Amino acid sequence: MTQDLERILMKNDLSDEEIVTLLGLTDPEDCRKLQERAYALTTERMGPNVYLRGLIEVSNICTANCRYCGIRKSNQTVTRYTLDEDVIVGCALHAAEKGYGSIAVQAGERRDEKWIAFIERVLRRIHAETTSDALPNGLGVTLSLGEQTLEVYERWAEACGNPGGLRYLLRIESSNPTLFHALHSTPGRFEKILEHRYEALRNLRRAGYQVGTGVMIGLPGQTLEDLKNDIRTFQMLDADMIGMGPYITSLGADMTSEGMMQKTPLLQLAFNMIATTRLVMKDVNIATATALDTLDPNGRVGGILHGCNVVMPNITPQATRKSYQLYDNKAGTEVGAESNILMERKIVEMTGRTLGLNRLGSSLHWVRR
Ligand code: SAM
Ligand code: SF4
Repeated sequence: MTQDLERILMKNDLSDEEIVTLLGLTDPEDCRKLQERAYALTTERMGPNVYLRGLIEVSNICTANCRYCGIRKSNQTVTRYTLDEDVIVGCALHAAEKGYGSIAVQAGERRDEKWIAFIERVLRRIHAETTSDALPNGLGVTLSLGEQTLEVYERWAEACGNPGGLRYLLRIESSNPTLFHALHSTPGRFEKILEHRYEALRNLRRAGYQVGTGVMIGLPGQTLEDLKNDIRTFQMLDADMIGMGPYITSLGADMTSEGMMQKTPLLQLAFNMIATTRLVMKDVNIATATALDTLDPNGRVGGILHGCNVVMPNITPQATRKSYQLYDNKAGTEVGAESNILMERKIVEMTGRTLGLNRLGSSLHWVRR
């Protein structure tokens, strides 16, 4: 394999078969070669910086029932919350002070006018209150608020007030229609339809966002062929950013742990998926997922070593973090600001990267478009 692997790793365009080969690597020496190539390509195409997005988990109220998710509507054991407007703006100011050039605003999915107007108002305030000499256009903002209409995406884009730093993350979760259906249907009801998600991603592009998508890795029943098709779908969507991480079981979800992968092979598969996505997609931003830290304390650092160039330190107030439990043992739930300081130190000391402080860190794929 080793000689053939070296040939594959140096190719510009990978065939479907070669992508599957890379995703399925298990020999430690082969995996190291893939990691080194992805890291080198990231340096070459994206530079040495890891960009920071301060993650604010604005609300855990959700009208959807995705079967894998711990905050889905039907989970009665969750204490529901929505952060106050002043608290959210305070978090954004804290991110700006720390030199994070951007924030990520994440919540459950809601489509009522009260919620839409609330987000709009908060975004306007964040833009007005974070614009300074250091950030002349205010903070960059990545929204992750689920499927909405084109009109809503346009309203929120306008409220962000920073067209150069406007992004949206909406994962497709899986490009396999059968798997997507199984993840999103409860008896007698289709919770989500894959085609609607593609439509939402097209609308985000129309509304001017840098478009991010991604999948969960290691879903029960998911094959290497599925993951290869996920990467081909990222290409087809011409994604600017990718956010993907391992699937972790959740006691509050509707899926059992049946078919769940063991920690070590799951972590390796996630790393292979990140590295292979880098080799195929080249100049997109790839975020290292919090879920990687649930598998290994240095999981997110490992993601950076395999081709990620974005990290999302959690800056949500401590009091509500345990209520945003998407999956069991979510990292950062019990710890405060010191864990972000530790992670930033680890990035510098363990990955050879620098922190892209006070920078928007836009997707170069989008910039070059
Ligand atoms: N509600 C919005 C949405 O669904 O796009 C944004 C928040 S949602 C919690 C963000 C992501 O969490 C989802 O896209 C999903 O991939 C991930 N997630 C949910 N449950 C998970 C689990 N059990 N394991 C890993 N990731 C999970
Ligand atoms: Fe709601 Fe998002 Fe969880 Fe689905 S993944 S249940 S939309 S928070």
